[in-house]
Amino acid sequence: MDRLVDFRYDNAMEFGLYVHIPFCPQKCFYCDFNSYVLDRGIVENYLRALEREIDVWGKRAGRLRAQTVFFGGGTPTTLPAGDIASLLDRLRLWFDIEADAEITVEANPGTADGEMFAGLKAAGVTRLSMGIQSFDDRFLKDLGRVHTAQEAVSTFGTARAAGFDNLSFDLIFGLPRQSPAHWRETLCQALELSPEHISLYGLMIEEGTRFHDLRRRGDLALPDEDTEAEMLEWCMDALPQKGYEQYEISNYARPGFRSRHNRIYWRNEPYLGFGAGAAGYHQGMRYQNHRPLRRYIEAGLAGEFPVAASETLSREAAMGETMMLGLRLLDGVNRSAFRARFGEDPAERYAPVIEKLVRAGVLAVDDQAIRLTRRGLMVASSVQAEFV
Ligand code: SF4
Repeated sequence: MDRLVDFRYDNAMEFGLYVHIPFCPQKCFYCDFNSYVLDRGIVENYLRALEREIDVWGKRAGRLRAQTVFFGGGTPTTLPAGDIASLLDRLRLWFDIEADAEITVEANPGTADGEMFAGLKAAGVTRLSMGIQSFDDRFLKDLGRVHTAQEAVSTFGTARAAGFDNLSFDLIFGLPRQSPAHWRETLCQALELSPEHISLYGLMIEEGTRFHDLRRRGDLALPDEDTEAEMLEWCMDALPQKGYEQYEISNYARPGFRSRHNRIYWRNEPYLGFGAGAAGYHQGMRYQNHRPLRRYIEAGLAGEFPVAASETLSREAAMGETMMLGLRLLDGVNRSAFRARFGEDPAERYAPVIEKLVRAGVLAVDDQAIRLTRRGLMVASSVQAEFV
């Protein structure tokens, strides 16, 4: 791995820890995440490798303060709560996880019950991110999800009963045969449960998935781009009326419930990622761990950094990424924070491109920030690409 370069951790920045749990009860038909059907024979070794990886990073990074921890996957709730609690203890051995830290676990319906939630709560978990995806059993079946809509509703109730007051829903739109009316109904059902946070994902068809094969054979009737845009625009109007502010292209939250952990990514702030395929950004270096479980476990158990690839970003590249990621936030890229970090005002540094995008009506600039306009939100990826 490359020698680490200086990276200023100033007080304005937050620092996060991500732990990847790559196991799921079965593989969803659209999924290209680094996830594998649960194999109990591998879990024990995987957990030991994770602990070793946390140890080697802990020794190397020094005693950093962390404001967020995120257990993602995969489906972390395929493991007993005790395993998550042990991993948290291991992180606490090496990092100062602040008393009011946001500690999130991804919890999927059909894999978590009251005992699990009580265990997570006792371990200090403060937030659950629930993979609901749809409230229609036909669509859930088409997606290859293991749960029904009723199970999603009851898992939500169980989490509330266990005392979780910060719950997030993941929902997918643009599903095969989905109409805008159907999507509106999904959102209305979600709103009836009143979660604190909602993440909306447009279905992406990724190579290597069952959906990819179906589309190639012409067996996947997907909504067209205009229909997807209509679905997204409806949310941009309807969710704020229900008290959810859109604070990122795909994310909405009640006041005080924005995801702190994801904000670290969008502000291009530092984080360490542990686990197979996990990525991190530390002291100006981006790295990604080995994705195959056996390769990751082998390196982890040997006490090595299980890093497959790493790159130390040039100042130029770090600035471009900070613009690209920051534009995802509706608050945009804060000019004074950018100046404090890189010594340049982004409005001046990127003046020609900004001018062009402002003229096109997709970007707005004021004294505080550079941000996407509503029109810009609909074509965000092409606007972001102008900065890298
Ligand atoms: S639950 Fe999530 S990570 Fe697991 S297979 Fe389904 S989409 Fe992939």
